Amino acid sequence: MKLQEYQAKDIMESAGIPVKPGKVATTPQEAVAIYREMGGQVVVKSQVLVGGRGKAGGIKLATNETEVREKASAILGMDIKGITVKKVLIAPAVNIAAETYIGIVIDRKTQSPVIMVSPAGGIDIEEVAKKTPEKIFMTAINPFLGVLPYQARALASKLFQDPAQIKKTARVITLLYQVFVDNDASLAEINPFCADDTGELWAVDAKILLDDNGLVKHPQNESLRNLDEEIPEEVEARNSGLSFVKLDGNIGCMVNGAGLAMATMDIVKYFGGEPANFLDIGGSSSPEKVITAMNIITNDPNVKVIMVNIFGGITRCDDVANGIIEAHNKVGIKVPIVIRLTGTNEEEARKILSDTALIPVGSMSEGAQKAIEIAQTR
Ligand code: GDP
Ligand code: MN
Repeated sequence: MKLQEYQAKDIMESAGIPVKPGKVATTPQEAVAIYREMGGQVVVKSQVLVGGRGKAGGIKLATNETEVREKASAILGMDIKGITVKKVLIAPAVNIAAETYIGIVIDRKTQSPVIMVSPAGGIDIEEVAKKTPEKIFMTAINPFLGVLPYQARALASKLFQDPAQIKKTARVITLLYQVFVDNDASLAEINPFCADDTGELWAVDAKILLDDNGLVKHPQNESLRNLDEEIPEEVEARNSGLSFVKLDGNIGCMVNGAGLAMATMDIVKYFGGEPANFLDIGGSSSPEKVITAMNIITNDPNVKVIMVNIFGGITRCDDVANGIIEAHNKVGIKVPIVIRLTGTNEEEARKILSDTALIPVGSMSEGAQKAIEIAQTR
């Protein structure tokens, strides 16, 4: 789950990271009202869940009411990478003297959080990694020990030379790690982390991604969800208790169990196909769930064929078969369905499916190859 900049800044500020206190407006009038309380120079920042807002023209400085009204009017309603701006953050501007980068992610190689810093902040960090990798410094953190003081200082000293600034930055790095751990984040990033013209340090931008699987531990974070910027199919799936991730291929996958769903996508890829989604319909699949799943998959115009792969353990194959037939009748599915059912009540399921247009297969490999063949000819 992605948080907006202002939400991430709220969390960071509560943790003690220096942030210029801003407020969110949804209309130019609100923006002006906020400005009246602030005065001075402010920055008007589009709040959308994509990076590169600055380059896209979604971040502007303003120094009086007229400018704030103009900039807010221009940014609100603007389209940034396909998303319409509905909110702007108004915050006192920082007189930036230096822009650096601080980020924390989970690293698969070391199986631990990794803190990355770069003195080349502000710009796209992927760009820095590609062109000047020597400007990125990384330290893996032992999750049982947390950030050790010397690690924070060593990283901080890559960003600033002044001892006072190094000390403050080390503290920010430690606090950011705390934010990362306390919220079960998969990413916590400050880009740019800036020194201003007086030497003070500020988190000028903030980004946090929360691990969806950690949200049960932080029910208060659930209210931070930005539903109108999420993929509608994924929202619908979550509300129906399905795990769904949209992908770019043309073979819809309906599978029970996350492991089997991964294996199904693997085997589709192995034979040269492209899955349109990851979908785990779960262990106890009622016909209703199957219908919802079918609806979600067929909403995607790219889907040319659906591959159903069910291992009946707790899930009964006949339930799934009934669900598919019901879905077929109700939803009017127009794409062919390749189906592999094995396990509990598989005989019953086969009987139910025998006089239908569905294409039964005996194994996963056969299913994947059949699905690919159909996808290629449609
Ligand atoms: P992003 O483009 O979506 O990453 O948004 P950022 O918040 O990182 O802003 C992009 C760039 O706008 C920053 O790297 C700064 O150069 C500039 N910017 C953002 N806020 C301020 C500010 O308060 N003062 C000044 N002078 N520039 C700012
Ligand atoms: Mn940024």
